[in-house]
Amino acid sequence: MTGRTPPGSRAGAGWSTGPVAVDAQGFPVTRTPAGVARSARGARDLAVLDARISGCRACPRLVTWREEVARVKRASFRDEDYWGRPVPGLGPASARIAVVGLAPAAHGGNRTGRVFTGDRSGDWIFAALWRAGLTNQPTSTHVGDGLEPTGVRVAAAVRCAPPDNAPTPAERDTCSPWLARELALLPDLRVVVVLGGFGWTALWPVLAGAGYPLPRPRPAFGHGVEVTLEGPRGPLTLLGSYHVSQQNTFTGRLTEPMLDAVLSRATELAGPG
Ligand code: SF4
Repeated sequence: MTGRTPPGSRAGAGWSTGPVAVDAQGFPVTRTPAGVARSARGARDLAVLDARISGCRACPRLVTWREEVARVKRASFRDEDYWGRPVPGLGPASARIAVVGLAPAAHGGNRTGRVFTGDRSGDWIFAALWRAGLTNQPTSTHVGDGLEPTGVRVAAAVRCAPPDNAPTPAERDTCSPWLARELALLPDLRVVVVLGGFGWTALWPVLAGAGYPLPRPRPAFGHGVEVTLEGPRGPLTLLGSYHVSQQNTFTGRLTEPMLDAVLSRATELAGPG
């Protein structure tokens, strides 16, 4: 078994509400899509949800991959203890903005245990969130490094690092109850910044399940696309942004001013916290 409880992680406190199986690190284990749906629905707060996500084993292909990567490691990280588990979201329940990406990177979040942290994508998004006034520091290197998001919750549509950064549609669907519950546990949520077309596609069924009437046809993903839905908790705006992947940032398809403009619009829409 790979994995550890990162110092400072909130995943690991008070999650058990009944006789559930727990793994060697004490995380409750979920093994089936139906179990994911049931476990997510019953999570009473983000700490419980984070712990339940951390023990999930419902996608055999992804479990095998994330643990293999954590065992073999990249040479430059050979002295590090990889997380090797699903990566929970980060940020307070009072967040008015959520940022949803694709999935953890094999040697990024799958190593550090913190979403987006540990690779160039994370450098980009956390620096941009800091410029937007949504975090207390511009860098995120590991759990326990002092990073405190304020007003934003950062999460992934799929919580386990996938081979070639490509989850299957079935894996996306199996994982979606975690995201659905996470968004439901943000009572002041007003804006979701969606990084990339995969997250854009993944979000529609999540929102439908939360009672939002969806536009037909679905608006196509694009950078700067803005869609406002009227739902049971008031308006919720989706903002599209090209993903902070290296294919986009190295090639100039996504620039810092482009990302800053999307986050600036998000803070404008979210209003004062
Ligand atoms: S991708 Fe999601 S549903 Fe699948 S094993 Fe990881 S956390 Fe569980």
